[in-house]
Amino acid sequence: MQWVGVPQLASAVSEAGGLGILTALTQPSPDALRVAIRETRKLTSKPFGVNITLLPSINPPDYEGYARAAVEEGVKIFETAGNNPGPLIKYFKSKGCYVIHKCTTIRHAKSAEKLGVDCLSIDGFECAGHPGEDDIGGLVLLARAVKELKIPFVASGGIADARGLAAVLAMGAAGANMGTRFMCTVESPIHQNIKEKIVASTERDTVHIFRTLHNTARVFKNKVAMEVVAIERRGNAKFEDIKDLVSGARGRLVYEKGDPDIGIWSAGIAVGLIDDIPTCEEMLKKWEVEVEDIVAGLNKVVISSKAKL
Ligand code: NAD
Repeated sequence: MQWVGVPQLASAVSEAGGLGILTALTQPSPDALRVAIRETRKLTSKPFGVNITLLPSINPPDYEGYARAAVEEGVKIFETAGNNPGPLIKYFKSKGCYVIHKCTTIRHAKSAEKLGVDCLSIDGFECAGHPGEDDIGGLVLLARAVKELKIPFVASGGIADARGLAAVLAMGAAGANMGTRFMCTVESPIHQNIKEKIVASTERDTVHIFRTLHNTARVFKNKVAMEVVAIERRGNAKFEDIKDLVSGARGRLVYEKGDPDIGIWSAGIAVGLIDDIPTCEEMLKKWEVEVEDIVAGLNKVVISSKAKL
């Protein structure tokens, strides 16, 4: 949710009954994050969190500075993601915060559990952005998570409708983490053209870049992404060979200018499930009813199959 997790959207998600998350690195500095946190508080009195993602970066961010700024501003819920989160998790826990750590493997989830996180976000291969390198889909990851983890977890990747939410609850998740779906809401700060592009897309419209650099990212399949993939396929590609194509600064222009082909932008295969641009409240209210109906329908199936036995 780089460039998307801003006060306007995070507050709308929290107001609608979800847990809105500000993406720290979207802000240019820790002080700018302080301003964003204060702005979010003006827009909602409900809880919201801050995400800090630790991945290779063209300009390494001041992670500690962002973390300190958010804690000092009174944020109590953090989502961490990426490599070597230990020191950040330790810091947040020492300040009494609730930490959700995003993992793409069960072994990483177990390590995070040992580090003392409160909740895990189990991120299947369907997800936007960085799915890790093991290529395990959500169904298998969640089934393993429920058997092996001691703490609660939410499901991430491939969820964009009530049926998906009901499915992950049935798998044992305490909730769902959604990015791509919330990108395509009224309150999302991205250009209307990109929201309409998501609505028009199918599940075949994403692609992986950075596979050869072991920093795989699922992004929207556009001209720039295909150029990056072509360079990687030639072999021996170094990050420098694709740096100008993939830079986040360039990707940001996609959302600002509304041209889906200017740069790289994250999208999960859930683009294939999205066919409207609702407000966050309309969407979550509708899902509440639909999930209950789906679960009631499943109960009926269970009862009638037991009766047949
Ligand atoms: P950026 O402009 O620094 O880098 C653009 C992309 O190139 C990012 O995906 C980054 O991981 C990758 N990258 C940078 N240096 C690399 C290297 N040496 N080797 C391999 N890959 C490299 O990033 P940005 O778009 O300004 O985003 C800022 C931060 O937020 C980055 O750390 C990025 O990874 C992270 N982010 C995370 C997600 C996610 O799925 N969690 C999505 C977007 C961005």
